[in-house]
Amino acid sequence: MKYIDEYRDAEAAKKYADAIARLTTKPWTLMEVCGGQTHAIVKFGVDELLPEKITLVHGPGCPVCVTPIEFIEKAIEIASCPGVIFCSFGDMLRVPGTGKDLLTVKASGGDVRMVYSPLDALKLAQQNPMKQVVFFAVGFETTAPANAMAVYQAHHQGVKNFSMLVSHVLVPPAMEAILASPSNRVQGFLAAGHVCTVMGYTEYEPIATKYHVPIVVTGFEPLDILQGIYMCVKQLEEGRVEVENQYTRSVRREGNQPAQQLIREVFRIVPRKWRGIGEIAQSGLGLTLPYAEFDAELRFGLKTQTVEESSECIAGLVLQGVKKPHECPAFGTRCTPERPLGAPMVSSEGACAAYYRYRRLRPPVSSSKGLSL
Ligand code: SF4
Repeated sequence: MKYIDEYRDAEAAKKYADAIARLTTKPWTLMEVCGGQTHAIVKFGVDELLPEKITLVHGPGCPVCVTPIEFIEKAIEIASCPGVIFCSFGDMLRVPGTGKDLLTVKASGGDVRMVYSPLDALKLAQQNPMKQVVFFAVGFETTAPANAMAVYQAHHQGVKNFSMLVSHVLVPPAMEAILASPSNRVQGFLAAGHVCTVMGYTEYEPIATKYHVPIVVTGFEPLDILQGIYMCVKQLEEGRVEVENQYTRSVRREGNQPAQQLIREVFRIVPRKWRGIGEIAQSGLGLTLPYAEFDAELRFGLKTQTVEESSECIAGLVLQGVKKPHECPAFGTRCTPERPLGAPMVSSEGACAAYYRYRRLRPPVSSSKGLSL
């Protein structure tokens, strides 16, 4: 496929892997922030091409995985109300709350619909004026502009029966929380290219300086990731600490400024709890005062209750790069994609789902054998 195959070329990948091996003299632990990168790494065996001294750990960048269980419970509560059409991206429908998920609500007669865009939900609101249409807005900075646009349009078109359950999260505070943790082992980051396409990467520069970690903005195809690793390792080996951009075909330092302006218009920065990790200060987005009428939590009078996570699920450790999915005792036995105990086994970007799909049936292979491109 044009524009994809070039980034999956096996010979070029081998050359990059050889270059990384020649460069590496010390052990380094790198974290890829985004779940899309995790899936590419596990699917194509990128980690197995690397020298043994390089360890990749998987980060918290799976929006479904980090949406707090309290928000799943709120979504279930709203979706169970008569007269509500509850809209969500597909992955969120199967994320377990304490007892059930949104698909269970649908099976019991709730009007729960999978949509591909918040604007589809807005259209449903316009087509169904007697119903309350609610969109479950989760995700990182990547999905924030489209969600902001839906609320902005609802406001300016006077659509009164549309609202959003907002559980947005932001990448830089999560990276800081990982770096500040006593159990941190991350020495360099591959930052998420699509987040930086929207936000640019100026906000990563103080983090690199403060924690003395190289950060390389990286894309999602195998060659992108290998080049990102090469750039990160090169900085570490040379004792440099910079924010570099591997994903130049999409990312500018200043990002997409009209999109940022729209985000600032509709959303404000709030504290946010991350599933499995806990509350991180200033790490989420909520609606600004002029758009508060579209806040589903206010419209439905929902109160935040603390909900206990499954004691078996170690997703918090997986999402912070402390453990790998197959180190979870429930992996592949009590927790599978069909019967998930935690969100990382549900989402198409979840690390546990990636390991289950691509790694559960074979032992790890050595770096000399691992090309599955
Ligand atoms: S394998 Fe399942 S139980 Fe274990 S960390 Fe992943 S989602 Fe949680």
